[in-house]
Amino acid sequence: QEWTTDKVRSTFIEFFEGQEHTMQPSSACAPLNDPTLLFTNAGMNQFKPIFLGQVDPNSPLATLKRAVNSQKCIRAGGKHNDLEDVGRDTYHHTFFEMLGSWSFGDYFKEEAIDYAWTLLTEVYKLDPERIYASYFEGDDNVPKDTEARDFWLKYLPPDRVIGCVAEDNFWEMGDIGPCGPCSEVHYDRIGGRDASALVNADDPDVMEIWNIVFIQYNKDEKGLSSLPQKHIDTGMGLERVVSILQNRSSNYDIDVFIPIFEEMAKYSKVGSYEGKLGEEDSTLKDTAYRVIADHIRTLSFAIADGAVPSNEGRGYVLRRILRRATRYGQQILQAEPGFFQKLIPVVVKTFGEAYPELVKNQATITEIIAEEETAFSTMLDRGIKFFGDLEEEMKSEGKKEVSGETAFYLYDTLGFPVDLTELMAEEAGLTLDTKGFANEMETQKTRSRAARAAAKSGGSPQLEFIAEQTAALTDNNVFPTDDSFKYK
Ligand code: ATP
Ligand code: MG
Ligand code: MG
Ligand code: MG
Repeated sequence: QEWTTDKVRSTFIEFFEGQEHTMQPSSACAPLNDPTLLFTNAGMNQFKPIFLGQVDPNSPLATLKRAVNSQKCIRAGGKHNDLEDVGRDTYHHTFFEMLGSWSFGDYFKEEAIDYAWTLLTEVYKLDPERIYASYFEGDDNVPKDTEARDFWLKYLPPDRVIGCVAEDNFWEMGDIGPCGPCSEVHYDRIGGRDASALVNADDPDVMEIWNIVFIQYNKDEKGLSSLPQKHIDTGMGLERVVSILQNRSSNYDIDVFIPIFEEMAKYSKVGSYEGKLGEEDSTLKDTAYRVIADHIRTLSFAIADGAVPSNEGRGYVLRRILRRATRYGQQILQAEPGFFQKLIPVVVKTFGEAYPELVKNQATITEIIAEEETAFSTMLDRGIKFFGDLEEEMKSEGKKEVSGETAFYLYDTLGFPVDLTELMAEEAGLTLDTKGFANEMETQKTRSRAARAAAKSGGSPQLEFIAEQTAALTDNNVFPTDDSFKYK
């Protein structure tokens, strides 16, 4: 039995279909009809109305009791944002597939745990000795979930059933609304040891794979009350479980990433992927590979679902992601400008069968990414050239500090990220007047605020236009400095 990604996905769906669950297609990862949600971040998003008791009685959802699917998810903004981890670890992506199963007012904890155990140990045949389960240990507001604990004890010894805090094991949709304890499955990639202390401790070898949420309470101003209808909502990371089944220590070593890395190696001037992490990856080459492979999936899927990089909201997140990938490619892999769009065909080929929308929209994806990438690469190139000249000039004049004005010019006019300016200064043995830069930023903000205010009060269409342009320009050039990109 070869566990390809496609096989793992279809096996999950068939297993739950065998238990009378109905396959519900993935909703869009960029939910154009839901402005409150930046991206779809879990399989349950499309079933929210059921949990909230807001289903139209004529909708097919009204009679849905059990469901299963594989959901396209993006966690790069809003409540769930994994962007900073992507590239740096082996098991967070910005785009990933979440395998999900649901009971809507039907079966509850015991069956949910039974199904999970059976699928993992009898179908996927994971080593039961390496499985750990977590349950909610309770706090001042919510009692300990002894039910979940006891159901796991049917299968696991007590030292592998672990009580965890609300942060990891209590799920809420928002500040009010349906909520409940959850219970997760964690897997030890190493085995032959007691790994209980490593559960929920950010250890890449003891990884959370499946979250089983028990929606049993409603929370309002007065506190918690029991829900008349209790629900099950589960989500398992497809890439994570595939990495285990393919006996790999990283999600990036599974079948679907290999062809993307092979394609990338054609454009890299610093060699191919070696899977190094952290300190080991001192040149950031392998981090760059992971970032770029992740980001091209995210961009391709999001654009296929109708999203477009832009200056605000969802589009802005996509723009940042594209720029992050472009920078890693050009700076770290020394790839020629335009390399990023060249990865689209391999993404479409790898995922097109499971997600035909990629095939259908390939031309649009290519057009949008090409345009964005070209615009940004030009900026990046111009900044690098400008800095080279500046460096020479400063050396001949015996100057040591790049002024705030210069850094601001690079940033505001050339669109050059300030952390990059800082790093290049450092490499050239120069310092950067960061305080001066911050002052320039403040002045700029005041200027555009004033322009906006003037436009509002004056009501002149001309002024309004200028204010809008200024705001757009500013946003366009802001490459947030909290971006995790570091050149060293
Ligand atoms: P983690 O603690 O590892 O960040 P999580 O608790 O945030 O995961 P959940 O919200 O419980 O994740 O989502 C359900 C499942 O989806 C997780 O158990 C995991 O397998 C998978 N998953 C979550 N985030 C990611 C991601 N960024 N990339 C890949 N898989 C993910
Ligand atoms: Mg998380
Ligand atoms: Mg977690
Ligand atoms: Mg979780």
